[in-house]
Amino acid sequence: MSPDNTSDLPELWSHVPHTHLRYRAGDKVADIDAEATPGFTGSKSDAPALMAERNERFAGLQEMLYANSRSGDHRSVLLVLQGMDTAGKGGIVKHVVGASNPQGIQYKSFGKPTPEELSHHYLWRINKALPAAGHIGVFDRSHYEDVLIVRVHNLVAPNVWGARYDEINAFEQDLVDAGTTIVKVAMFVSLAEQKKRLAERLDRPDKYWKYNPADIDERLKWPRYQEAYQAMLDKTSTAYAPWYIVPCNRKWYSRLAVLELMIEALKSLDLKWPPANFDVDAEKKRLAQA
Ligand code: AMP
Ligand code: MG
Repeated sequence: MSPDNTSDLPELWSHVPHTHLRYRAGDKVADIDAEATPGFTGSKSDAPALMAERNERFAGLQEMLYANSRSGDHRSVLLVLQGMDTAGKGGIVKHVVGASNPQGIQYKSFGKPTPEELSHHYLWRINKALPAAGHIGVFDRSHYEDVLIVRVHNLVAPNVWGARYDEINAFEQDLVDAGTTIVKVAMFVSLAEQKKRLAERLDRPDKYWKYNPADIDERLKWPRYQEAYQAMLDKTSTAYAPWYIVPCNRKWYSRLAVLELMIEALKSLDLKWPPANFDVDAEKKRLAQA
């Protein structure tokens, strides 16, 4: 298959996710219906076939991005995944990003900072993980933790985390100016669905590894997290790096939606296959005789 840049949104979407899911000033976290499937007209049974088709489209575009970097294109894409525990960040990594060529992917998850990381500015570890030219960087949590969990737990003084919104905007502006397209996805799961997912983790030995007793403590702070998410969206959704709000109670929906956001980001780069930097006909002749 040779992907091109023609518009190809599948019929099962009534609205383009990158405009429909984009945060708008005034959007309220408290109003988000995590159960919803905005813009999607199909049903769960349509998801597997569509996912497979769109994964292929994504992989083709990703390969084109990578191919271009071999001939000097410095652009890259950064997917930022933020969400409460069980929102499905890992599933996005596995099912959306995982369908592409690992050669061009730079995955990084950000947990509780190590003592070394804490001894540096909070963007230090972020800077180290930024995608190289031609790569898709995937942040499973990100610098936004420094205005989410850090704010909720007051791990630094309010004036310190309070100054970070502007700092993050400036940081992202620099990234965009340097050729990185940033796709920021805020993933929302309802408290009831989160409870179900945590219960499942406790019921299944193959899921214990995903469970952390501290998840319950964070869950109990959901109103504080709602405030922190609201401030994050209000203050850091910019024209150059907007937030997308993705309802995540239905995993099949959130994966399809993020996949479309990524396809759209790659299409916006208007990529073409790089031309040969050798004489194709001459090489064919040489090969025939070799
Ligand atoms: P998980 O993603 O399930 O492995 O959990 C990672 C944990 O690390 C989450 O509870 C995050 O909120 C926490 N975390 C990530 N970044 C930071 C940070 N900068 N400061 C404090 N905690 C963080
Ligand atoms: Mg966790």
